Order: sequence, then C-alpha cells, then structure tokens
Amino acid sequence: MTYPFGAVVGMDDMRLALLLNAVSPAIGGVLVRGEKGTAKSTTVRALAAVLPPVAVVPGCRFACDPAAPDPACPDGPHEPAAPAQTRPARLVELPVGASEDRVVGSLDLERALTEGVKAFEPGLLAAAHRGVLYVDEVNLLHDHLVDLLLDAAALGTAYVEREGVSVRHAARFLLVGTMNPEEGELRPQLLDRFGLTVEVAAPRDPAVRAEVVRRRFAHDADPAGFGTAWAPEEASLAARIADARARLPRVVLSDDALRQVTAVCAAFDVDGLRADLVTARTAMAHAAWCGREEVTEDDVRVAARLALPHRRRRNPFDAPGLDDDTLDQALEDSRPEDGPDDDPAPPDGPGDGGAPPPPQGDDGGPGPGESRHRDDGSPDGGSPDGGEETAGAAAREKAAVAPSDPFRARRLEVPGIGTGVAGRRSKARAERGRVVGSVRPSGPVTRLHLVDTVLAAAPHQVARGRSGPGLRIAREDLRQATLEGREGNLVLFVVDASGSMGSRARMGAVKGAVLSLLLDAYQRRDKVGLVTFRGGDAALALPPTWSVEAAAARLRELPTGGRTPLAAGLHRAAETLRVERVRDPQRRPLLVVVTDGRATGARGSDALGAAHAAAQRLAAAGTAAVVVDCESGPVRLGLAGVLGTHLGAHTLRLEELAAESLAATVRSVREAA
Ligand SMILES: [Zn+2]
Repeated sequence: MTYPFGAVVGMDDMRLALLLNAVSPAIGGVLVRGEKGTAKSTTVRALAAVLPPVAVVPGCRFACDPAAPDPACPDGPHEPAAPAQTRPARLVELPVGASEDRVVGSLDLERALTEGVKAFEPGLLAAAHRGVLYVDEVNLLHDHLVDLLLDAAALGTAYVEREGVSVRHAARFLLVGTMNPEEGELRPQLLDRFGLTVEVAAPRDPAVRAEVVRRRFAHDADPAGFGTAWAPEEASLAARIADARARLPRVVLSDDALRQVTAVCAAFDVDGLRADLVTARTAMAHAAWCGREEVTEDDVRVAARLALPHRRRRNPFDAPGLDDDTLDQALEDSRPEDGPDDDPAPPDGPGDGGAPPPPQGDDGGPGPGESRHRDDGSPDGGSPDGGEETAGAAAREKAAVAPSDPFRARRLEVPGIGTGVAGRRSKARAERGRVVGSVRPSGPVTRLHLVDTVLAAAPHQVARGRSGPGLRIAREDLRQATLEGREGNLVLFVVDASGSMGSRARMGAVKGAVLSLLLDAYQRRDKVGLVTFRGGDAALALPPTWSVEAAAARLRELPTGGRTPLAAGLHRAAETLRVERVRDPQRRPLLVVVTDGRATGARGSDALGAAHAAAQRLAAAGTAAVVVDCESGPVRLGLAGVLGTHLGAHTLRLEELAAESLAATVRSVREAA
C-alpha cells in the first residue's frame, strides 16, 4: 500500500514540480535533490495513484492508445477500431545497476540470424510509456544509461539496434530522478536536461515536523484505513490534474508574460534557450493547475524557481539555489508599464535603503491555490548559505591556506585492463567501446562480431548442404565481440600537509593541484578519497565517496604544518584500500601521493626507512600509484623520486600535472630533437 500523495507534508516544491509535470509532461521531468530521510521516494511513488488512468489496446506490450495506436508498434499493427481497456497509470522503477538491455529491451540476435525472426523483449522504457519512470540515486546511474534515458525522454521514442536489426517504439514518460548530493553530483550537462529541479530538506518548522510524524504513525498503524481516509483527497487531486490537462491547450502565454520569462532567464545568465522553453511551459502548466487560462507574473515566478536553479550552475562546487532578490528584480524590471509612458524610466536602485519590497502582482490577484506553495511560511529548503558564518568557520578559514586556481589536469590512469563500471579513466572490458576481438558467447549474444562469425561458419557450408548464395549460420558459429572502453576508478589522494611542504604559497599551489585532480575525477566518474598526514599522525580526512564537493571542502579547510609522518600516511592509505576492496571489488584504485618525499618522526627513529618499507608493501600488493613531487627551491633532494621507485610509481613534478604542460613538454622535446 503506497502512501497517499495528498498526505505528504512539508515537500511543497517537490509536490508542485511533480504535479506540474503530470499536467504537462513536455516540461521534461523532475530531479529531486536532498539528503537521506526526507521521504523523496515515498512522495514519488505516491504520484502514480493520482495520475489519470490510461486507455490501452489489450495485449499490446507497448501500451498503445486505442485512439491513436503507434504505427511502428512492434506488437502492431493494431486495427483502427481496436478495443480499449483502461488501467491505472504505471510507475516503473529503474534500478541503478540495470543493464542497457533491461532498459531499452533486448533483441534476440541468435533467433534473428539463425531463424530470421525479429524477436524483441520490451524493456523498462516500454513499460513506462504513458506513465512515470523513476530512478532513485540517478547520480549513480552509468552515464550512457542516463544519456539513453534522457534521449528517449526528449524524443518520446526508444530505439534499439543490434548489428543492423532495429526496433523502435513510442516511449513517452514522466522522468523523475532523486539523488543525495552528498553521494556525488550529476554531470552538469545532464543536470540541464531535467526540466525542473527541487531541493528538499526536512522541514524546520516543529509544527510541520510533528504533522509528518503524526501522519506516518497513523499510516503505519493502519495503512488501509489511512488510505481510505485520504481517498477523497486523492480523488480530488486526480480530478484537478485531469481538469488542468484539459485546460492546458487553452492557456495563453501573452507577449508580456513571455517577455518576463526571457527577462528572468537572461537575468540568471543561463545557457541556451532550453531554460526559456522549460520556464514558459512550466508557467503555462501552473496557470492551468490554478484554473486560469492566462499566464501571470506569479506563474513565471513559480516556474523560474523550479526551472532555473540547476541551469545557472557553472561549476560543480557552486552552491545550488536561486537568489530571490535577483528574481524579484528581473520580474519587476520586465513588468509591463500601465500607461503609454515613453520615459526611459531609470531603474530604481535597490542599493539605497535595503532590499526592494516584494512585488505585488498588479495584473490579476492570486488565483485559487496558486500561492499555496509559498503561503505556508516554510523556508524553501536547501540554501544553507544564509549568512550563518560561525566564528569557528571564520577562524578555520584564516588558518587554512586557500588553494590556487584549478587547471585542466592530465589523465592519470591505472595500467592494465580492468572490469570496473563505466567511466572515463582507465582501460577496461566494457559494454561499449572499441572492438578488440571476439569470444564464443557464454550467454546470449549482445554484440555480434560479424567477421569472426562468418569465418567460423565458412568451413561448414558444404557439410551443411548450402546451395544458394545465403550463408548457413548455426548457433555455434556466433561470436561475441570483445569491447574495450574505460572504467571509473577509486582515486585515493595521500596529501602531505606538514611543515616540510614549505611556504603558504607552495601549499596553495599543492591544494590547487589536488583540486584540479578532483575536478578531473568528477568528470571521469571516479570515486575519491583523501588521506592527509601531518604532526603526529595520518587521518582519513574523507572516506571514499562520490562527492567531489565534500573532498574539495575538506581540502580547503585542511590545516598545515608540523612533522611529516609519511609512513603513517601510506599505512592509512593501505588500510583504506583494503576495506574498499571488500566493499567495491571491481573498482581498481589509483593512489596519488602528493609529497616532497621527506619523512620526519620522533628523534632517533628512521622515519624515511619506515616510509620506504610501507611503499614497498603497497607495491607488492599491486597498488597502482603516482607520486606528485612537490619539492621546490634551489636545493633539491629528489626524495619524491626515491619514494616513487619504492612504490613502483611514476613520479611527476607538480608543474607537470596540467594537461597543457604535458603538451608543452612534448613540444620542447620535439624541438630539441
Ligand atoms: Zn501497440
């Protein structure tokens, strides 16, 4: 028994975003970001029950509409006056570990080649057609699956092709993704392709929190009774969605309203025109939802708050959210004038006398329910940057050295061929990529190696009694192509934060370099971790995580100075890798040791010898490593290179980390030759 959508409390933005998409699926889906325990999934799963039911052709696995069956339906053609059957709208969940075949459907290549039959098994995209497709932890989904999903959502079509055999079918669905940003971000270019995003946080108002708990208890004690009690509310929501859908085609976006949409998008400096389109569609859906046929300023404001925050982000480390003052100002500046006043109307500077007053909508008062999501006084969730800088944070800021500007880092990779999940770092056996050979298939053939299959079939043609031009292919001839792509890795940084690293400027450069490598790891879909050592000991400053943001934050705050316990740092790294090997065995680690190679310890101890022994143990365990040599100054000991030798690692100078410097090195070598 799912929780009733109408009973969800304190998630007003999220509920509104889902409802507006239900009214107008052209908006393009919803991405919900928020920490664990905010009932994101419960809310999404509750949506299906309030969606209008769909009429389908009985027996069609692709949910064809009897009124307009898909002409390309693989189960078709359906007769024009096909019988109809009404069923509830579906919510299909796509698990993060799903294979491509599971998502798009699978073609039985063996039957296609040996029997000439086009056998297609529909995937999740077909199941979600005319319903909701939900991906929890969408940030952990393989990139190519996300691409595939967003392509299908944008085109309304799923397309499968294997070795020239292809199937196409309609796949229009409301795409909803939820994620916890602490576990890593979506790539910005994917973020942009969700129509709306909302940030959810647990409500701060104690009264609201109490109501959440009260309803949860009531539900858990008697789910069926709770469902019955909320049934009228559910029915009225369903009716309101159906009503708004019917009204949507009549909603007018006037030139004035359109000007406000474009003014707001321009004010937030968003890329491309997608933002303008989505904002306009959302404003129109909101007008329909509120029972109006004309878009008002309030519709534009609501739409901008849902459609723009994720489109203006330039950098994964920027804070999310939309600045309300900027939004108000843009709306005010683009508000149509009352009279035919030709004055250039100098903008009233908001700088003198505090914040501008909240604009009053002067074209039409608030419609029924239109400001519901803003009335309840609950803060809009998820903007913790609200000027609450504590004294502690300020002091830490002073103690920590700021990193220098990040640069584009060269790719460091793990040698050999891995079998990890898709990514962009090291070579791996993969579901997609370059064909490097073929094998006899152990299961169904998913990627046929045509030449090798023909070569395998050729010697048997006479024995099989071939007479015509067609090749006789048997099951045992089929060869599966072996593909080589790239995998993501675990990049574990071991950073020397001790006094030996020299001046503050040098430490700033070191932090800047590590930040650059972190940005690179984010783009290559790696997991990252951070071990630091200084003073008496080493610390796992950040356990392996998807959140590059968290790593960057730890790095910025990292205090420096003191003794240099290099051996302790390497021990801590080895221990971290051991645990992670159990947790995520397919993911190959890459150790990046950022050091000048020096080691100091208690008087009389052989700190350097201990460090070299630790390095040798890591090398003996087969750990791939790179040493980044941070030594500077006129007199150099070259100790980082010695450590690199013990680790069996390549040693790079700090300055060699930038991709540009690599090109420059190659150029200078060529010129010298
Ligand atoms: Zn059909």
